[in-house]
Amino acid sequence: MVSAATVFEAAVASGATHGLDPADFKVPRVTDGEMVDLYDLRLVDTERGRAIYEAIKAAPEYGRCPLCGQQPVTTLDHHLPKAVFAALTVVPTNLVPACKDCNHAKGHAVGGSPADEPIHPYFDIPDDDPWLTAVVLERTPPALLFSVTPPSEWPSSLVSRVEKHFERFGLDAMYGALAATELSNIKGDLRRVLQSGGPSEGPAMVRLRLEEAAESRREARVNSWQTAMYTAVAANPWYYSGGFLN
Ligand SMILES: [Zn+2]
Repeated sequence: MVSAATVFEAAVASGATHGLDPADFKVPRVTDGEMVDLYDLRLVDTERGRAIYEAIKAAPEYGRCPLCGQQPVTTLDHHLPKAVFAALTVVPTNLVPACKDCNHAKGHAVGGSPADEPIHPYFDIPDDDPWLTAVVLERTPPALLFSVTPPSEWPSSLVSRVEKHFERFGLDAMYGALAATELSNIKGDLRRVLQSGGPSEGPAMVRLRLEEAAESRREARVNSWQTAMYTAVAANPWYYSGGFLN
């Protein structure tokens, strides 16, 4: 299992787990069923094992699922499925904290090529690179459309994998719904800022308020939906000039 973990970690770090042969991940003299029992009965269900399980679950900042970046962690997801890669069943780096929805959406996904290999949140996405953007839909009520806009230096396989990740976990719909609520929540604040500045100064004051909000959220997390949202509305003249009142 230790050597399997080493092989796995080298492959996942280079986006090459699609090339791994499940036959190399059998545990000698131990059946796949016994490995599942090791996970279910020893890691999850005993006091000593459970402490390790909970420590892995508690790893993400703020208890936030690293797959969607939004919902609370409730479980551990096997990055490579235990039903296929038995030797990775209890390997910590193969156990990714996840929310229930992301765990369900991921299922037993295994990439077949460099372009569709599932993203491993601890190895794959350079979190300092801005890749999440939004555009304002100028309508009543205003809304935001989120998409993946990666830096030009990203290799095409990583772009494709992040786009598939975005699609697989339904992040456009999730972020769109959350942003719609946030837009509704800030409407009153922005209306008061607009009114206090009057017709000549008001729009610029609203824009500044939104730019400051974007900057503060960017300092916290570059690719949060909030950073993308505030960046988008601060750059949209229709929105900050009064479109937000719609
Ligand atoms: Zn999630």
